[in-house]
Amino acid sequence: MPKTKIMKMRLGKQCVICEKRKEEGILIAKSFICNTCEHEMVHLDEQDQLYNEYVKQMRTFSSQYV
Ligand SMILES: [Zn+2]
Repeated sequence: MPKTKIMKMRLGKQCVICEKRKEEGILIAKSFICNTCEHEMVHLDEQDQLYNEYVKQMRTFSSQYV
């Protein structure tokens, strides 16, 4: 549906972590990460296991974009 496409464009980029579309966030290696997940990642620095999961997920998504 064309209408859905326009909606998605207006809602911003899709976050590679939570897969929600957000207006604000950062781009790392062509992967968009929303503000919420960026803050989560700062906390995850202390929890190596979860942090590694994030990195793995990011790598998977960034390789899809190439
Ligand atoms: Zn997110």
